[in-house]
Amino acid sequence: MLQAFAGNAQQRVKKALFIIADGIPADVIEKVATPNLNLIAGQGKYLRAHVGGEKDGYSQTPTISAVGYNSLLTGTWFNKHNVADNDIKAPNYHYPTIFRLFKDQYPDKKIAVFSSWLDNRIKLVGDGLAATNNLKVDLHADGYELDTVNFKHDKESAYMHRIDEKVIDEASATIKQSAPDLSWVYLEYTDDMGHRYGDSPQYYTAIEMMDKQVGRIWDAIQYRQKNFKEDWLIFITTDHGRDERTGKGHGGQSARQRSTWMVTNAKGLNNYAKYYYPGIVDIMPSIAQFLNIDIPVKYKREIDGTVLTGPVSVAELKANLIQGNIDVSWKALSTDEKVKIWVSAVNNFKDGNPDDYKLLGEYPANAEHALVSVKDMPSTFYKVVIEGKYNTINRWIVPEVKK
Ligand SMILES: [Zn+2]
Repeated sequence: MLQAFAGNAQQRVKKALFIIADGIPADVIEKVATPNLNLIAGQGKYLRAHVGGEKDGYSQTPTISAVGYNSLLTGTWFNKHNVADNDIKAPNYHYPTIFRLFKDQYPDKKIAVFSSWLDNRIKLVGDGLAATNNLKVDLHADGYELDTVNFKHDKESAYMHRIDEKVIDEASATIKQSAPDLSWVYLEYTDDMGHRYGDSPQYYTAIEMMDKQVGRIWDAIQYRQKNFKEDWLIFITTDHGRDERTGKGHGGQSARQRSTWMVTNAKGLNNYAKYYYPGIVDIMPSIAQFLNIDIPVKYKREIDGTVLTGPVSVAELKANLIQGNIDVSWKALSTDEKVKIWVSAVNNFKDGNPDDYKLLGEYPANAEHALVSVKDMPSTFYKVVIEGKYNTINRWIVPEVKK
């Protein structure tokens, strides 16, 4: 609480919360009646988005639940965060989650996880692990999937809806009472109904139920904003789409499995959000900006997402190795600034060690392309970074796979 009173007493405290509703492609969320999502989008925006990294590229990412969650949490794709499936065998904790970045800077602020699934907190957020520097999740209500007494498993998976209801009960009560500074609410029932029935009335009903649950979280946020000096940011999104043919499966790279969406009350969406095709990785830097997290440079150079709100300098980095030169191009989203091009021929970062970035030039952002020499740093692998005034983007050059 000290922090809240430390500065200007009139200043409102910023709080952020994101909800992942499992397994709903954009075409479905747009078809089903979702009055609560619409209400929130009315204050901000509904955006179509994507998961899956770059199709057939080095960052291609399975359209699987835990993989998607970790792309949101870390702002990176699978080639970095290393969560390949729901087993979550070896997450690379050198790519910090939004929770970790937040706590590193604001150790007294409170973080919270509400989820059927225990692994979200234990493995992905990494509660209490040495690898996350013993990050502590202050408030949590989760692991109900393991409680087969109170949530007896039934053939129709109705128990999962009851678990989601419990998650919402806990989350909304906690928001009203203690208002954690950064929260993750996870809802699973929609994916269960998708797997069981595919595109079907049962699946659509599950989505309507989810919308009502989001409405209860939104009510709790309204309560806080009315009664306390707080401003809340909310993002609601999904972790993957579903297959075109039946709507039952996911995991692959078809357009519908990659197709997702996000709803936010965020104000001041920028030209990147407006004119580009956002990814799940964009939510992390956007929440970081709202919560005034100063992301250390070494992490900025790794985050694959682009901020959706406020000023933004550059987007859509392309890089191609041509006989000792890298042909770099980008899109300029702000004028009158210079961008720096940094290149590293090694990736020590993935092992927790510093990289060796060389500054290969400074160019007017408006130029939107540059040819930089890497003759004195010969390699078949490069990490290319463009540093603008307001944001940093990156891309790998990887050896071509012979087919
Ligand atoms: Zn999922």
